[in-house]
Amino acid sequence: MAEETIFDKILAGEIPADKVYEDEHVLAFRDINPQAPTHVLVIPKRKVSHFTEFPERPAEEAGILFQRAAHVAKELGLEKNGYRIVVNHGPHGQQSVGYLHVHILGGRQLSWPPG
Ligand code: AMP
Repeated sequence: MAEETIFDKILAGEIPADKVYEDEHVLAFRDINPQAPTHVLVIPKRKVSHFTEFPERPAEEAGILFQRAAHVAKELGLEKNGYRIVVNHGPHGQQSVGYLHVHILGGRQLSWPPG
């Protein structure tokens, strides 16, 4: 069984989060340490700990997560100027929370390549 994370607790309502979108499949909330004027995290309600689990999961799960991320970015008004979608995995990716989350970063000019 995967270790309980802070995002499990947010999903369970045990700790607060600044929610921006919720439906039966996903929850989206503002990052507590924003790296851009708009920085939102989208998590699947059916827990996936790591991006690397997707090959073993039904394809709809990844599809719905990214579809909802696009929907949330549009609702946040980011579509016109653009934004970045990020999924960090493992130590080199600097994943710090073991509950899969899609970062939506927007509201400023982002640089490339990432650090
Ligand atoms: P990652 O490094 O990809 O695992 O990203 C984890 C993100 O979760 C970081 O950007 C943190 O700032 C964010 N984070 C950690 N705790 C919370 C929290 N309680 N509420 C919202 N965002 C959080």
